[in-house]
Amino acid sequence: MDSADSLIERISNGSGKTSKDVASLIEAKKEKFSGLLTDAGAAFMVAKELGVSLEEKELKQESTELTKISKLSEGQMGVNLEVEVEHVFSPKKFEKNGKKGILCNCLVKDASGEIRVTLWHEDVKKFFEQGIQRGDKISLTNCAVSKFNEKLQLSVFGGGKIELTENAKQNDKKKKIKELTDNLIDVDVLAKITRVFPEREFNTGERQGKVLSFIAMDETGSIRCSAWNELTEAVQRIPLNSTVLIEGAYTKKGLNETELHLGWQSRVLFHPKKNTEFEKIDELNKIERKKLNELNDAELFEARTTIVDLIKGKMSYLACGKCGKKAESTEKGFQCDNCGIIESAKPRAITSILVDDGFACLRCSLFGIQAEQLLKTKASELNELTEEQLNEFIEKKKKELTGKEILLQAKARVSEANETELTCISFSKPETKKEIEKKIKEMKK
Ligand SMILES: [Zn+2]
Repeated sequence: MDSADSLIERISNGSGKTSKDVASLIEAKKEKFSGLLTDAGAAFMVAKELGVSLEEKELKQESTELTKISKLSEGQMGVNLEVEVEHVFSPKKFEKNGKKGILCNCLVKDASGEIRVTLWHEDVKKFFEQGIQRGDKISLTNCAVSKFNEKLQLSVFGGGKIELTENAKQNDKKKKIKELTDNLIDVDVLAKITRVFPEREFNTGERQGKVLSFIAMDETGSIRCSAWNELTEAVQRIPLNSTVLIEGAYTKKGLNETELHLGWQSRVLFHPKKNTEFEKIDELNKIERKKLNELNDAELFEARTTIVDLIKGKMSYLACGKCGKKAESTEKGFQCDNCGIIESAKPRAITSILVDDGFACLRCSLFGIQAEQLLKTKASELNELTEEQLNEFIEKKKKELTGKEILLQAKARVSEANETELTCISFSKPETKKEIEKKIKEMKK
């Protein structure tokens, strides 16, 4: 009997409702959280609403008795372990029965063996937010043991916890950029992403997918990197000039020099732990804070702004599958000014907003993933809206976005008529604590 079934039975016994009723209440709860709740988590919430106490079990789950990996067997519930992180794979998004979710696989070990751990939904976020990396010791509380492909694996489920207990002492896989030579496998690099090129699609007949090139730097140098497939999105979501930890990458000889590749075994950690190494790299090549009334042409800057309007217009266009530039649908197929007649073109999101920082109010355009993130809508969905739906959509988003504060990184373009327009490179929610620290620093100057 698995955990959800036993919880249903106990809720049913405690509340007098049939198991069927309890199961549908749990389903409804999961529905409400659009798949971001595990069966067990939903069951706990339903139990609370029905006034059923599951405490006895909860206490048991919080027992601190530790198990060794070699002692685990299929079907065990509520086990606790202290392990070392060996490898973290890139989180994967999935959609099952119309519900969206995210999962992340990791390999962990202790003195007795090695096992795969699967994290789900909120736990993935918590894991990444703690900046847990290779070599760190973590505690896993309330895990279930199951079998997958004949191998045992652990899942952390509702009420379970993953906590960093000890930072990695050393990591032999970690390299400085200067130390990267051709044909290394499974290397880690702490570096700052200083430039991102447009995403490209490829189709060699055998393989097809997406690739995104970017430049990373540390205090020893810079390197061209390629992120493949699912990782293209992860890299695009990271604000430019952020210091990140790349794990599980490999190197290859590029046209002129060694290049770093992020494949299916790699991941990018957006919030690495802040130590002296981090601070040193983070200080490099800083994007300067600017006021919107003092921008120069072609300048890259950062500003804290308020969105004051969303400008009405088309929210998507067809982009060349090869170079990402605008494509047109003709009788012969798709036409790109750069590439000529092309096989594929895909909708790409585009939007413009007015931003204000108290010094000037400027128009700012967002493309691709930046526009999708701002509108919280995929380009393919935007492309399918009828004119009427689009107008409705714009009105709704205007209300949502107006008054919202964003920390904007953008490139300025100043015309001959001295009018300034912006292109967004990335944006994020301003972190209040960081902003206050910044203000204090400014005042001390
Ligand atoms: Zn093209």
